[in-house]
Amino acid sequence: MIKTIMKEINNETSSLCLMNEPLKKHTTYGIGGPADLMISPKSKQDLIKVIEIINENKIQLTILGSGSNVLVSDDGIRGVVISLKNSLKQIEVADNILYAECGTMLGKIVKYAVKNDLIGLENLNGVPGTLGGALIMNAGAWGGEISENLVHVELINSKSEVKKIQKKDLNFSYRQSSFDKDDILLSAKFNLKKADKNIIKENFMEAQSGRKKSQPLNKRSAGSLFKNPKNISAGKLLDDAGLKGFSIGDAKISEKHANFFINDGNASSSDMLMLIKKAHQEVKDRFNVNLSLEVKLLGFDERDIEGLC
Ligand SMILES: Cc1cc2nc3c(=O)[nH]c(=O)nc-3n(C[C@H](O)[C@H](O)[C@H](O)COP(=O)(O)OP(=O)(O)OC[C@H]3O[C@@H](n4cnc5c(N)ncnc54)[C@H](O)[C@@H]3O)c2cc1C
Repeated sequence: MIKTIMKEINNETSSLCLMNEPLKKHTTYGIGGPADLMISPKSKQDLIKVIEIINENKIQLTILGSGSNVLVSDDGIRGVVISLKNSLKQIEVADNILYAECGTMLGKIVKYAVKNDLIGLENLNGVPGTLGGALIMNAGAWGGEISENLVHVELINSKSEVKKIQKKDLNFSYRQSSFDKDDILLSAKFNLKKADKNIIKENFMEAQSGRKKSQPLNKRSAGSLFKNPKNISAGKLLDDAGLKGFSIGDAKISEKHANFFINDGNASSSDMLMLIKKAHQEVKDRFNVNLSLEVKLLGFDERDIEGLC
């Protein structure tokens, strides 16, 4: 089935198709087994055609942006993985409106807005990942969230229909969005405001230095592992539980920030999952708090990750 699909996609699009592609090459953790088939579409039109073929063949599909918020199983992911980190990169500004395709790196969008004297995205300076990943996760930092100045999102759904969804028809909350699980985001528009260059630059630099001070940016991670419960940071709970520096194999809880779980060499996903379960249990036992994951677990058996998400 996978070979037939690959043939059809090769015939009808200019996408790059790779069988048994190791996903550790496509995640910031550097962890993850193979995808049966990984596809990198060349353009939005290619992506739409690829989705039509996948939907017609009812093949299991997983979308990856730049893989900066995922832990992929050592067994990899069955079916097709579409990687968007090398495609859908168009970005434009007209007056106060910024348009970008969802494979564009958020960092590039933030810099583009700053260059055009547009305020509203600069707090997200330093958040890795693509625009698509940022919208799904409602990425945020230093008081700002990607959904704040959103006008609409263009997406393709499980019936292969391309739709524009206005912000008023979507719900965003802390690291959460209301897109359907099968929606694939194609592009988005933001309505920003013109402002003084110096004010925007100051916010931009503050976001950068705050990040450098508090996060282990020289280590492989997926950012904050757990979501912050109401009124307390997950990092403080993990720190108070004495978990800073604790490790299983090469999976380690950062000494610098206890909510950053790092791959300190050659960690496997099972090392990381064991470490996550240990930390989750420790916080539950000591503080009666049930932490939930911000990082998405992909390719795991449901029974192995029960109670974590
Ligand atoms: C060092 C570091 C610091 C970080 N700091 C922050 C921070 O300050 N704030 C913050 O919010 N996050 C932070 N993160 C987490 C991460 O960067 C964000 O969640 C980012 O928005 C994820 O984007 P991505 O393209 O890498 O998505 P991925 O990790 O590839 O995917 C994340 C989810 O989105 C889905 N997805 C991705 N693209 C699409 C698409 N086009 N259509 C449909 N679904 C899609 C995937 O299926 C997956 O479920 C940090 C990560 C690192 C490594």
